[in-house]
Amino acid sequence: MKTIKSINKELSNSNSPIIISGPCSAETEEQLITTCKQLAATKKVDVLRAGIWKPRTKPGSFEGVGAEGLKWLAEAKKETGLKTAVEVANVKHVYSALKHNVDILWLGARTTVNPFAVQEIADALAGVDVTVLLKNPINPDLALWEGGIERMLKTGVDKVGVIHRGFSKYGVSNFRNAPQWQIPIELKHRFPELTMICDPSHICGKRETLQEVAQKALDLNFDGLMIESHMNPEVALSDASQQVTPADLVKLLNKLVLRTNKLPAKGANTELDLLRQSINVLDSELIDVLSKRMETSDKIGSYKKANGVKILQTNRWDEILTTSTNEAQEKGLTKEFIERVLTNIHIESINRQNDIMNT
Ligand code: PEP
Ligand code: MN
Repeated sequence: MKTIKSINKELSNSNSPIIISGPCSAETEEQLITTCKQLAATKKVDVLRAGIWKPRTKPGSFEGVGAEGLKWLAEAKKETGLKTAVEVANVKHVYSALKHNVDILWLGARTTVNPFAVQEIADALAGVDVTVLLKNPINPDLALWEGGIERMLKTGVDKVGVIHRGFSKYGVSNFRNAPQWQIPIELKHRFPELTMICDPSHICGKRETLQEVAQKALDLNFDGLMIESHMNPEVALSDASQQVTPADLVKLLNKLVLRTNKLPAKGANTELDLLRQSINVLDSELIDVLSKRMETSDKIGSYKKANGVKILQTNRWDEILTTSTNEAQEKGLTKEFIERVLTNIHIESINRQNDIMNT
């Protein structure tokens, strides 16, 4: 299996963070070329994106203009000198995009979720020098996302990166797709050299919250952003409420605070060093308390075993939860946080008691 090659050079024109922008869908030649020219004029965009074939939840909505749009995109590339990126969902899309000189191919969330489709695309790309970006699968399955990267590497496609676009969820929420930041963070941990782009447009589903999600992505060390833009978002044929005009894209980008990940020289008693030392001491105390907590749970397990008492007494658990949640809230912790912590402790405690009972 090949190893991941850095693609920051492939994606970046000059900007850091890398900015990929363009319409959700190519709709008409005029809409695509005008939008792309406006984006190029900002000098803030590295790669132009456009959806040519649109995977839609239900039939009947706009499903893309198809290969015709690739000619317009090729024209936009010629006029602006910028690289282009297109979503491919099957082998036919791959051949068509490559024939029209698309620089970067991305796999959408509904494609990464399907190992057969990913494998077919990877096989079609064997021996082709192209950059591939894998969006996360629609469900929060890190292994599936990782599997997509591995399928590419195995067929020799080593210029791969990922796009985090959030995860599907049921019910109403502030996000169109829940970001679940811990998943891309864990992916980066497993592949430190991986280029990671965040797609705030599909996470937010609305323009109003793009700024804060884009900022958060940069603070979490993402290499770039993919943000949908349209010369006239209100009348866009897909994702109208989340697209921004090129002018608004510039406003958004100018407002971003670019923070460094370089720390002040170590050793000197900088404020950060001192705070980190305190955190280390507190973490060690936490571990100590947790260990004592589990030793006590074990003793309770032995008592219950000796006396033929069942492990779970819901009343007792409710009582712990209520008392501790009240106390925690008084001390400035959120209910949600303390419930998560206590639930995890409770599960571990039950598992240990179960081991004691049954061995
Ligand atoms: C898109 O980028 O327009 C798109 C369809 O995205 P996703 O695969 O993230 O839904
Ligand atoms: Mn879209």
